[in-house]
Amino acid sequence: MTSPLDGLMVSAVDPGSDSAHLVYVSEGLADIVGSPATALLGQPPEALFANGTPVEQLDAVASLVAAGRQAAVLMALRTSSGIDRPVHATFLAVPSLSDGWPLYLAMFRVVDKPDAAPAGDAVIDQTELFDALAHPGSLDDVIVHLAERAESFLDSGRVAMGLAYAHQPTSTSFDLVRTAGLKPAILSEFFASWRSSEDCCSSSALPVASLPLEIAIEFQNAGIDSIWVTPMVRNEDEVLGAVAVAHPDRSTPTQAEQQLLNAVAHLAVVAMDRSRREADLALRALHDPLTGLPNRDLMSDRLDQLIDLSKRVGPRSTGDNGVLSVVLVDIDRFKAFNERHGPADGDRVLLQTAQRLRSVLRAGDTIGRVGPDKFLVVCPGRRDEADAFASAEELRSVVLSPIQLTNGDDVIVTASVGVVMVHNDDELTSNAVMSNAESAVDAAHEGGRDQVAVFDAELRRQLAARHELEAALKDAIADDELFLLYQPIIDVATGSMTGAEALVRWDRPGHGVLPPALFIDIAEDSGLIIEMGNWVIREACRQIADWPERLAGGRPTVSVNLSARQLSHPSLMPTVTEALDYFAVDPTSVGFEVTESMKVEDLERASASLVELAALGCHLSIDDFGIGYATLDYLRRFHMAHTLKIDRSFVDGLGSNREDTAIVSASITLAESLGLTVVAEGVETVEQLEYLHQLGADYAQGYLLSKPVELDDAHLLWHRATLIPGSAF
Ligand code: C2E
Ligand code: CA
Ligand code: CA
Repeated sequence: MTSPLDGLMVSAVDPGSDSAHLVYVSEGLADIVGSPATALLGQPPEALFANGTPVEQLDAVASLVAAGRQAAVLMALRTSSGIDRPVHATFLAVPSLSDGWPLYLAMFRVVDKPDAAPAGDAVIDQTELFDALAHPGSLDDVIVHLAERAESFLDSGRVAMGLAYAHQPTSTSFDLVRTAGLKPAILSEFFASWRSSEDCCSSSALPVASLPLEIAIEFQNAGIDSIWVTPMVRNEDEVLGAVAVAHPDRSTPTQAEQQLLNAVAHLAVVAMDRSRREADLALRALHDPLTGLPNRDLMSDRLDQLIDLSKRVGPRSTGDNGVLSVVLVDIDRFKAFNERHGPADGDRVLLQTAQRLRSVLRAGDTIGRVGPDKFLVVCPGRRDEADAFASAEELRSVVLSPIQLTNGDDVIVTASVGVVMVHNDDELTSNAVMSNAESAVDAAHEGGRDQVAVFDAELRRQLAARHELEAALKDAIADDELFLLYQPIIDVATGSMTGAEALVRWDRPGHGVLPPALFIDIAEDSGLIIEMGNWVIREACRQIADWPERLAGGRPTVSVNLSARQLSHPSLMPTVTEALDYFAVDPTSVGFEVTESMKVEDLERASASLVELAALGCHLSIDDFGIGYATLDYLRRFHMAHTLKIDRSFVDGLGSNREDTAIVSASITLAESLGLTVVAEGVETVEQLEYLHQLGADYAQGYLLSKPVELDDAHLLWHRATLIPGSAF
């Protein structure tokens, strides 16, 4: 299976010289060519193309693009491995600002390598053989299944399988997995004598008469005239077993038959490797393979045991054994470090850190790796907070010494450390302890990193406040404390309102009106988002139903935001269809916005709902879009969408920041080529709006046109001819 690797690049043509340079390279493209995007920026686009790319082809592309046409060609990209990758490439001109450089966009799709057609008369269906591999069950089951498949392909002959997998590499004894009706003792003897022969690394067809007498007699009695042996070889000389075909007459296999047996032997090796890996995995399931330390599962298990033990030791007053301290060490900005220096240096940091942390543990302490960049140290018997703090300080400072990178440079990493004290009268589980430790680490982050924070009364209070907010939010829906504001979306060409985005607000008694930033995350974490989101959908439908007609005619499209969790929730579709029905709302008046930052796994789970929503006639938008993050593959999965909303962070730099301008411009072209309309979000200045108009954006939304307003005000804006300030309309 080849994965649909997609790439995207934007290049700018220098006016005057006619030469171009890359201003944007997507992660996908960087993956295809095997170089980091940063190394490619500023280079001429030809640096990406394979050496043999004909100049005429590039000229033809350039002239098509210059004429405003789309050019689709089959070509190859140069990769860092030296092997060219064939790709389908589509080149498009991108409109640029009048004062900017001409831009063009290229999209690449990797062409699957054409499989060499198997030679010979009987075409072996490899996929059927691979099915045998996918066969569930033990290694023996898979091997037997392979033998059966092979037998069904052969005209005659029975297939026996012997594995040396469980033995020393030099051993001549085989485990018989399938005897094909032959006497086990004789078959074993046959495999042993074959294994000790010199040419057991290649396949052979042995006339029975040439075998040691005792074996020959037995085989002849069983009606066998020849035996074809195909070794299961790994790394050219490691014999892991053999496929033996006991044949009634024919002395040699045909070319196709031998191909089949080679394939079977190869798949058997794959199955053995897989089985070994699985056994390894089972062993490692409780340990981190990199550092060898206990993983999160094992640590929580140990922690639970220790908590249990500390309870049994007795009340707090009886001594210090009843107290446990837990220290969470979180390496600061590790993700960024990994991205900048690469995984090899990232591993170095983790290994060094693990080793150093281990070097300062006291007897009885346990350490584990509980996250990609997190280590947990459990210290039983720490007397008090000061003592626990001191050992956490020691753990923090030991991380600090320089670590040598693969290129010889030294770096210093820091860690944010959280401490939790567990008393034997606390009713806590390991999960609660770890989550308190996370809160302490968060506090250390907020304090500026590279420091120790204790989960203390203050943190407990903040956590309680969060819980309180969660509890209050639970009631907010029933108590009618939520309401919607509407922010107009305008047609860039005319300035008139075409629709609005519904944005939720919470009028929390005693706290004033809260923006979503203060409660959406909590709603998502707690699952309340489902109930809240369903309320938003119903409320928006209720209000759309009463939306006034306007002289100019037309109906607005009112969009609501959906979070990933809502999309994969079974209540979504019933809520939407019931609300549309109940309020008699035309589905085309309702839109849904799904954020582009949603993970692909979530999107996959959600795509059924997206298809259903689109089938109802609802309008779908991809929210917060910027080609800096999206891949073409992502857009393809989102094929049912109608609109791209370009994220406000890119619109912000429009005209002032060259990269942002290129991204906005390329997003508009990309959207157009995919048949999507564009809404630019966060438009705050007339200049930005003019640029957007020039680049061909269809719609705009932002404080320049209107802030989110109450329903009545939205109705007033709806009647206006234009929302563009100072516009001639
Ligand atoms: P969003 O979907 O990107 O919504 C646009 C946000 O940008 C709104 O903030 C809006 O007030 C703000 N905005 C609009 N124009 C401008 C501008 O010109 N400049 C600036 N600086 N900001 C502008 P708001 O209302 O605070 O919403 C924040 C986020 O909360 C939304 O981002 C959306 O992701 C989420 N949200 C809002 N309502 C809902 C809802 O009902 N359900 C869900 N799941 N999420 C919601
Ligand atoms: Ca939105
Ligand atoms: Ca948005």
